[in-house]
Amino acid sequence: MDGFSSILSNIHAAPIIGSVDYKSFVPIDLSKNNADLTTNRLESPQEFENYIKEYLEQNNAKVAYGGYLEERKLYQRSSIFNNNETAERSIHIGMDLWIKAETTINCPIDGEIHSFKNNTGLGDYGPTLILKHIVKNEVFYTLYGHLSLKSITNLSLGTILKKGEKLATLGYASENGNYAPHLHFQIIKNIEDHWGDYPGVCSKDTVDFYAENCPNPNLILKINKT
Ligand SMILES: [Zn+2]
Repeated sequence: MDGFSSILSNIHAAPIIGSVDYKSFVPIDLSKNNADLTTNRLESPQEFENYIKEYLEQNNAKVAYGGYLEERKLYQRSSIFNNNETAERSIHIGMDLWIKAETTINCPIDGEIHSFKNNTGLGDYGPTLILKHIVKNEVFYTLYGHLSLKSITNLSLGTILKKGEKLATLGYASENGNYAPHLHFQIIKNIEDHWGDYPGVCSKDTVDFYAENCPNPNLILKINKT
């Protein structure tokens, strides 16, 4: 494990969804290998939400999570991820937490508001918030995507947020880029000049770079260890 990863793994984070114990989380496979993800489900947020609901019921769980470095078909519906000029982007580099809209998201660790933006467009993040953190002299960022619009109104850059404090609420499909409600959580080491946005999906030829710059979000969250 490199130095940055070991700093992340030593962080004692607050639960990111404070209302649900990690015992009620279940991993979910949303990769291209999941045959249950039919075209109909992938293209309709309502169908996808029904699929998640059924999956949660079957597993007696409240949150389905996963997706780091998962290769997905989900992005083929949008030209944001596929156009003729660049390589297809299909590899997800954050963690998704699938739970209903309006769920409260808490700060896992102390941070300050770096930037926020409504990234409109089919399949984009919708309302997005980025926090800046400094832990053991290491500066890094966390990104929260698919939030409600009200989450990013009345915010000020530089506002300090404490671990466990309410950060945002989850958006509906109508505001979150047209997805079933979920949080996209991602760690970013070097954010360069990105502002309220950062790629959450990459192509196969850039995955080495992104996997290093955006390590596994579960290093902080530790969902399957509690
Ligand atoms: Zn995501």
